[in-house]
Amino acid sequence: MAAAAAKRSKTWYGHGLPYVTMGNLPGHLIVIEGTDGVGRSTQIERLSPWLELEGWAVSNTGWTRSPLLSETINEAKAGHELTTTTMSLLYAADFADRMEHQIIPALKAGFIVIADRYMYTVFARNAVMLFLFVGAFHFALYVKQRQGTRYKHTNRWQARDNPVFLFRNQVLDNMFWTFASAVPVWTAFEVVTLWLMANQYIPTITFESNPVWFVVLMLLIPLFREVHFYLVHRLIHWPPLYRAVHSLHHKNANPGPWSGLAMHPVEHVLYFSGVLVHWIVPSHPLHVIFHLQHLAYAPAQGHNGFDKVKLRNGAEMSVEHYTHYLHHKYFEVNYGDGLVPLDKLFGTFHDGTPEADEALKRRRRSRVAS
Ligand SMILES: [Zn+2]
Ligand SMILES: [Zn+2]
Repeated sequence: MAAAAAKRSKTWYGHGLPYVTMGNLPGHLIVIEGTDGVGRSTQIERLSPWLELEGWAVSNTGWTRSPLLSETINEAKAGHELTTTTMSLLYAADFADRMEHQIIPALKAGFIVIADRYMYTVFARNAVMLFLFVGAFHFALYVKQRQGTRYKHTNRWQARDNPVFLFRNQVLDNMFWTFASAVPVWTAFEVVTLWLMANQYIPTITFESNPVWFVVLMLLIPLFREVHFYLVHRLIHWPPLYRAVHSLHHKNANPGPWSGLAMHPVEHVLYFSGVLVHWIVPSHPLHVIFHLQHLAYAPAQGHNGFDKVKLRNGAEMSVEHYTHYLHHKYFEVNYGDGLVPLDKLFGTFHDGTPEADEALKRRRRSRVAS
């Protein structure tokens, strides 16, 4: 019992702030999150006096409010001359200072700490990074059409005024499913898994304790992801699940970058569920974040509709996802992405050659015959 209780106490990832001893934290942390202008400060102005009237001791904290750093940060923001790295370091220093001198002492003393913004900014970060990453492909290849149809798998562009898609527009339809479903599901897996790690409910390692395993696991993640994706993908091609769930993704017979994560919410849950492996296999928070980002970003490349992407300096980058384009064209081939040759193993590989076409037709005929 005592051991279990000790195990459940709060802990740092790695060494944390080495000069701060945590001890018992009988206080409570209340976090008010939201973008600018949604009324965070109004809520806080109402909440703290009410809590005080109820007999609680209250301490308020917020981004960039450390007495040590706030002035510097304000000057830096006004001047626009610092790099993003320097700004990030200033924010980190601000947070560390408030952690050491305000948040932890107040929690130790049993205060309620009200934080104006905390770490749920994760959701916003995920959404913005995905928008920039996928948007970059879309903008260059489809809006600017920088390389025309050179290396494009088909000479058709994204569907407009097609009733199959939400808003009759393929790109808007695809973006809708990405932001309304993929980002929330991704973030939920991220927040819950990191919370379980922080509270030591699941096995967590540090780089110092297991440096070799740390690196090996990082390298294994893409391979694991491929096997997991293959299995989930075959599962949702089972006709009842296909009709109810996966057909939404396959409306994109001619996919573009935004089609990658245009999936039914059930498919998103299955797709991102690969990260649950870290609930069993001892991992570091970085593995979880890397695994989820791999899941989130890879489909934009796999669906961008081109074989090669021309870079600004004239060089060409091979994106080699013709096999997944063929999956969208023929459905029952290339369930995996080829990193682990599972399609070759199970006879569902199609490389676009006439021989592979013949093999597919033979499989279809034998199924009709049986
Ligand atoms: Zn696809
Ligand atoms: Zn499919």
